[in-house]
Amino acid sequence: MPADNSPQTLKWRWSYSRSNSLASCPTAFRFGLTPRNRPRARINLSVLVGVAVHQAIAKEIDKWARGELVSDTAAQMSARNIIQSIWKDRWNSIIEIANGFEEEESKLDFFQRVAKNRLKRFFTMIWPQFSHMRHELHEEPRKFQLDGIRIAVKVDLACWTPSDGLAIVDWKTGGRDTGLRERVQLAVYALWAHKQMGLSLDRILPMIVRLKSGEIVRYQVVDADLEYVKEIIDSDIRIVSEYSQSEFPVSPEYNKCMSCLYHHKCSAGMNEVDLSPGR
Ligand code: SF4
Repeated sequence: MPADNSPQTLKWRWSYSRSNSLASCPTAFRFGLTPRNRPRARINLSVLVGVAVHQAIAKEIDKWARGELVSDTAAQMSARNIIQSIWKDRWNSIIEIANGFEEEESKLDFFQRVAKNRLKRFFTMIWPQFSHMRHELHEEPRKFQLDGIRIAVKVDLACWTPSDGLAIVDWKTGGRDTGLRERVQLAVYALWAHKQMGLSLDRILPMIVRLKSGEIVRYQVVDADLEYVKEIIDSDIRIVSEYSQSEFPVSPEYNKCMSCLYHHKCSAGMNEVDLSPGR
């Protein structure tokens, strides 16, 4: 008989990233529910620049929220220091390198250049379109309930437009359009603003900002988007509840396992990486 894997029993909150983790590998999802499984702060190599750029922007938005001037030079310096410090400790702080992937030393200059370019573009093309708005929050976790299910969100920036709409912004460091996934992510944010802040959908203005190109993609979330998100949440809860507590299926694939935070705890993942051609 399946164990009781309800969110209440396993004490988990649904989030967009957890939903992606469940779809990618149920075992990784299960590991992630137990804090002691999580090694000290580690990030994926693919998000190194993104993490630095996000943190640098967040620091400047902190200043803006306090009524101080923002500085693109200060942001570039912050990102540079963050990348430098993570890279220096890369055998512990970058998941793929901790899992045995060898990255060239010279990549550091490339990462620094990309971060600098993204931030230049942000402060010249993007920020002037938001700097006149009124700050609500940025990079802070928020929780809300939907039909008894606890949901967690963390938006990059939410701010009020002059016409009293709430712009909810997600910075994407890469330039790739992830289509439906982006829409679902923004619909989850809209669901939070709708349920938690009581805003009607026409006052919620979710958007994706691509820092690589400077493009801003605006979405109008409609009821059908919220229904779709609810279906995903219900489906995730149903899937998890059907697993036996100790037997969440593994889904080993080289790229996934090499970039998995729980690789060191997962024999299937270790085999997958060790047995792959070229290893
Ligand atoms: S190492 Fe691979 S199989 Fe194991 S939990 Fe991670 S993604 Fe899943």
